[in-house]
Amino acid sequence: MEYRILLYYHYTTIADPAEFAKQHLAFCKSLELKGRILVAEEGINGTVSGTVEQTNAYMEAMKADPLFEGIVFKIDESEHHAFKKMHVRPRPELVNLSLEDDINPRELTGRYVEPAEFYEQMQQEDTIVIDARNTYEYDVGHFEGAIRPDIESFRELPQWIRENREQLEGKRILTYCTGGIRCEKFSGWLVREGFEDVGQLHGGIVSYGKDPVAKGQLWKGQCYVFDERLVVPINQVNPTIVGKDHFTGEPCERYINCANPECNKQILSSEENEHKHLGGCTPECSAHPRNMYVAKHGLSEVEVADRLKALQDEASAYNSLQI
Ligand SMILES: [Zn+2]
Repeated sequence: MEYRILLYYHYTTIADPAEFAKQHLAFCKSLELKGRILVAEEGINGTVSGTVEQTNAYMEAMKADPLFEGIVFKIDESEHHAFKKMHVRPRPELVNLSLEDDINPRELTGRYVEPAEFYEQMQQEDTIVIDARNTYEYDVGHFEGAIRPDIESFRELPQWIRENREQLEGKRILTYCTGGIRCEKFSGWLVREGFEDVGQLHGGIVSYGKDPVAKGQLWKGQCYVFDERLVVPINQVNPTIVGKDHFTGEPCERYINCANPECNKQILSSEENEHKHLGGCTPECSAHPRNMYVAKHGLSEVEVADRLKALQDEASAYNSLQI
């Protein structure tokens, strides 16, 4: 069976997001799609998976709706679904920059830069490329030379820009994100802040990787995505690995969620190290009484104690070496 994964967004006006979400969920379920869709007064943002037939039916229906005129779908081939369930959730906004006076990208946004043009421009002098995503996304893949704002969430980005204004002043600024939705707002905000030459990668990293000219060049590593695939390849010419194992620093592109349900932090880890650390990102998380890795693998109390002991021994051996 051939499946497809659709990634899309559209800024529009949805008068009653809660009601729309309810009806849209029923519609998606009737098509047997799976995925995650956010609906706000400012528009829609989703990733869904289904068979070629199901996803075609969905795209046709969306394109026929005047509300979504001009909507663009990024399509990935797949061998299976990329989600377990179908969710459509109403939200106050699609992307949150925590602005008192929010940006409407339909009124104010940065210049759209097509992938081939982006590839050329990012290599030019006096050009600064800013990654508009979170650090955990950057760390598994990014454009060569792109700035990594040290932020945990998108809403911290304006503050970071204001604090680092000096290095951006007088430069051409190019922004990019996964599919383009965050940059619509972020680049508009940069324009409003007074930056004069602001461009955004049209269609995001995902489109850049599929572009016949850009071919994903100058992208290092993989691209983090918000479905079960977790990462997708981008650079078709000279792919590299930039992700690092949380425990050893070795090259790694395998994401896990910390097994401590109260932590749940996403980290890169080899299967071997996940096993060794019982899926925990810190010694405390490894030893958490409700460790999900322990439950999932049906480890006995003795096995857990043995592994925690081994970790402790290793840590104290390491500490004595340091002294
Ligand atoms: Zn943890």
